[in-house]
Amino acid sequence: MKNTYIKIISGICVMPLLTACGDHAETVKSADVFAMDTYMNIKAYGRDAEAAVAESEARIYELEQMFSVTNEASDIWSINHGEGQPVTVSEDTVSVLQTAQTMHKESSGALCISLYPVLCAWGFTTGEYRVPTDNEIAKLLKNADDTLISVKDQTARCPENMQIDLGAVAKGYTGDEIMEIMQAHHINSAIINLGGNVQTLGGKPDGSAWTVGITDPFAPDSLIGTVSVTDKAVITSGNYERYFTGEDGVRYWHILDPADGCPADNGLVSVTVIGACGAECDALSTALFVEGTEQALQHWRKSGGFEMILVTSDGELLLTEGIAADYTAKKEMPYRVVQRDDES
Ligand code: AMP
Ligand code: MG
Repeated sequence: MKNTYIKIISGICVMPLLTACGDHAETVKSADVFAMDTYMNIKAYGRDAEAAVAESEARIYELEQMFSVTNEASDIWSINHGEGQPVTVSEDTVSVLQTAQTMHKESSGALCISLYPVLCAWGFTTGEYRVPTDNEIAKLLKNADDTLISVKDQTARCPENMQIDLGAVAKGYTGDEIMEIMQAHHINSAIINLGGNVQTLGGKPDGSAWTVGITDPFAPDSLIGTVSVTDKAVITSGNYERYFTGEDGVRYWHILDPADGCPADNGLVSVTVIGACGAECDALSTALFVEGTEQALQHWRKSGGFEMILVTSDGELLLTEGIAADYTAKKEMPYRVVQRDDES
């Protein structure tokens, strides 16, 4: 995360639409926001769209302030600088930490929010990229252990030499919060894009499903396909999202494997998770990316409640059976539909 977040709001538009009845003017309101180190867009349709979008923007900035790893007023800063003592945090922070703890267990440690010092060593937090030595990584990894984070009532603590960051989960949680705001404003149709994390409320105003593009990890300016969804989060973790090329010509990306503190390279270049809860889908997409192809499929088989679109490093597309019918290919590539009771 950068030291300071630039906040810009631009491209706001309010456009009258006619409803099916013709006598009620509905509005569409759209806002671009830069927060949590990424570009975001919120779009809502309905009579109260303007208020819903304004409240959503305010909520994004509020959550950014709580979850920032660099803002000294944030909950995460307090936990990281709490010298091992419990600190009082918001309900939001408690909720995100609990999601991370659950996913840490369910992914056998693949999701590990205490890797922050290792991410710093690689320069992913500042953009001053470098390849740390094995020795340096090994020392930092000794303090990465999510099982030592405790969350109790309204307090959280981590051991003195540990630092956490919520980069893998915070945007999904933020998306869920925006969906709640939309519902409170009786919005039936909304779509948000939080730096590639898409969440939808209902369908389009005409009742049809939303179409969400899936980026081609081998050519990130184009799509491999689209999925049709209503009321779903579509959240992707990919090796193309943040990376640098080392002097050795190797590409190093921002999702680290807690097993060795290096960019996770377990057969996947992109994982998209489709499900109802943004926080869970966000935690899952990062965890499954680290788990790699076979473990990710096992994870899906035993969990339920979500679907996946996987792209392997050798260029194969894997679609789980519950999403295959909603997927439209835009690029020719070998693909396989994975069945729940198929162990191959
Ligand atoms: P995402 O884009 O949701 O996959 O999240 C990636 C971000 O999560 C990175 O930029 C890091 O801040 C953080 N991160 C990297 N590796 C891990 C990991 N294994 N577990 C948890 N967070 C991670
Ligand atoms: Mg994630």
